[in-house]
This record gives sequence, C-alpha cells and structure tokens, in this order.
Amino acid sequence: MGVDRVNLLEFDLEALAAYCLQLGEKRFRAVQLFRWIHQKGASEFAAMSDLARSLRNKLAAHAEIRAPELLTEQASADGTVKWLFDVGGGNAVETVFIPEDDRGTLCVSSQAGCAVGCRFCSTGHQGFSRNLTTGEIVAQLWYAEHHLRVRLGLGPGERAVTNVVMMGMGEPLQNYAALVPALRVMLDDHGYGLSRRRVTVSTSGVVPMIDRLRADCPVALAVSLHAPNDVLRDQLVPLNRKYPLDELLGACRRYLEAAPRDFITFEYCMLDSVNDTPELAQQLVELVRGDHRSMSVPCKLNLIPFNPFPQSGLRRSSRERVLAFAKVLQDAGIVTTIRRTRGDDIDAACGQLAGEVQDRTNVQTRMARPVIRIETTG
Ligand code: SAH
Ligand code: SF4
Repeated sequence: MGVDRVNLLEFDLEALAAYCLQLGEKRFRAVQLFRWIHQKGASEFAAMSDLARSLRNKLAAHAEIRAPELLTEQASADGTVKWLFDVGGGNAVETVFIPEDDRGTLCVSSQAGCAVGCRFCSTGHQGFSRNLTTGEIVAQLWYAEHHLRVRLGLGPGERAVTNVVMMGMGEPLQNYAALVPALRVMLDDHGYGLSRRRVTVSTSGVVPMIDRLRADCPVALAVSLHAPNDVLRDQLVPLNRKYPLDELLGACRRYLEAAPRDFITFEYCMLDSVNDTPELAQQLVELVRGDHRSMSVPCKLNLIPFNPFPQSGLRRSSRERVLAFAKVLQDAGIVTTIRRTRGDDIDAACGQLAGEVQDRTNVQTRMARPVIRIETTG
C-alpha cells in the first residue's frame, strides 16, 4: 500500500527534479514526469510511454500519484460542482468548481478547519484541525481538472479550470510553507500554466505573510475586510487584533508594487445590521482612500451577501441594503461588484464549506458570544 511511497503531488517542479536526481535521473525526466502528472492527469507510471521502462519500474516501486479519497460529489443546478475529500483523522475538506461563460473557477481549500475563527464563517466555527500538505492542495486541482475534462467532454488543449481562488476552507497564509509550492505547480508552464492574474490568494490579513508572498510568489490578492474600522473588525475577524487595519492596508500597498494586478480585491461579507449601513460604507471609502493620496489603496470591492448556516446567529443583508451600500462606494468611484451566490442548493457558497473537521481548538465555545448589532433608525 501507499504508506511508504513518496506522493509526487507533493512536489513542485524543482522538488521533483531533486527527487529525480536522487534516482539518478536528469532534470528533463522530471519535466516529462511533471507533464504526465499535471497536464495529462496520469496516475499510473506504466502509462508514461516516453519514460524508460527502468525508470517507470523504479517509480512504481517508490512513488505514487495519489489524491485524497473522494467522499462525495454534488452537482448544483447551476453547474457548480462540490467535492468532499477525506484527508484522514476524521477530517474532510471541500473543493468547488464554478463554471461561467468565459472561465471555470476552482475554489481550493488550504486547511482542515481554520484557526482565525471569523464569526460569519462556517469553517471558522469548526475550529482548526491541521494544515493541508502541498500535495493535498495540488490534488484538488489535479482531480478537478482531469475529472472535468472527461465530464465536460473537452478536447485536447482545452482546460476546465482557468482560474484558481484559494477561498475554500482555511486561511492560506497560515499554511504558507505548503501553499507556495502548490501555487508554483499551478503557475508552472509544465504544470497547469495558469497566469499569476488567474490565481488568487484570499486572506483575512496575515500581514507578515502578505509581505512574504509578494517576495516569493506574487499572485492576485484578495483581502477579506468585512469592516472599515478596528472596533468592528476586531469582532468579526479576530486576527484584526493582531494585525489592525492600518498595518493591513500598509501591506496591501506594498503588495501592489509586485502584484500581477494593479488593484487589491477587498471582500466584504454583508451582514444585516452589523456591517451594512451607509455610514460604514462611507467609512470604507475613507479608509481605502487614505488620509492623503500616498496612503490610498487601489482596489475593487466585492460585496458578498452573507450565506447563512446554523449557529451563526447572523442574517444576510437585504438586497436593498446591499445596493445602498454599493451605491455609496460606486458614487465615490470605487469599482464595486456584488457576488452572485452560486451553488447554494448544495451548500457550496462562500463560507458554507464545512467538510468535517475535528475541532482541536475549542473555538466553538469561544464562538458562543453574541455579536454586537448596530442600532439603526429606519
Ligand atoms: N481564509 C481566507 C479564504 C477563505 S474564506 C479568507 O478569509 O479570506 C473565502 C471568503 O469567503 C472570504 O472573503 C470570507 O470572508 C468569505 N466568507 C466566509 N464565510 C462566509 C459566509 N458565511 N457568507 C459569505 N461569505 C463568507
Ligand atoms: Fe478562516 Fe477565512 Fe473563514 Fe475567517 S473567513 S474563519 S479566515 S476561512
């Protein structure tokens, strides 16, 4: 069985080349192998016809290409597909494919559970169990891409997944060491060949890791803001107590110097009577504009209607409130979109991903505290 075998999904091309070197093989063999795995979706060495039989035998003896076991697949009426993978120890993570006219976006998980514990997030309510490995992150793309090519009847050269967003379960920047090689596999021309603009890391604001990502592997960045001031954000995104807004926005400005896009996407989950008033929208405008021009953050705002789940104690903002909030931003010249909810008939929408996680952090007890509501007139 696979216990002692090296899973080649764990390796970016450099690591695979190092592994091949150990087997006495030249770098170009690693390139061939990498292409078999990621471009063709091979899982059997025997099928790799242009590799010498001796190498195939060696690989078959010591290595494997293995995704976590698939537990369930659910397809939504709108074409969204959600997979649940067993990552062992009673933990499962979810991956979601969202097809649109001009793209296919895969929403990938980075951790089993999440330690940040945002109030409005189902994953946050589960607590943290463990980081996924590079192979477990890559496997989600490997499985989805090759499975969908067959399912959608795509021809050679056609791609199912054109965009990856690290917006599944977990905080990707709290699993940095596994994340970066996984991003490299996604970007590699011999791998999935996705451009940096089409791979998005979404973070709740791990400031030092935003700086490291800028240096190591700049891809598109989405920052989950959810509040325009520290008092409110401290409540909604507990990580804000460690990295408050001025530090977070500073990291965003620095990130833009190296980013593949010239804006940051700010995500803002619309919670009824918590963070959705026109006054807060105005504060948000002032926040991203900064006190003077050099402090502004070029950005787009993505408003996400809250997707409810049991135990959250929160409600989705009404359509009218979302539109009124958006209007304040748009009138100030900020590009603002309202995210369409996809796959909610299969609980695949943002923040509904729950999988099954062994809570090792007792977050559920901490979460029992109520959120302070804003008193609104009218
Ligand atoms: N941990 C990362 C990425 C995963 S969450 C982050 O927080 O950015 C992906 C996005 O879904 C985040 O913007 C998050 O705030 C949002 N989200 C979480 N729970 C949600 C919910 N119940 N409804 C709507 N959006 C939610
Ligand atoms: Fe973690 Fe993101 Fe959910 Fe917050 S929103 S708990 S950071 S997964």
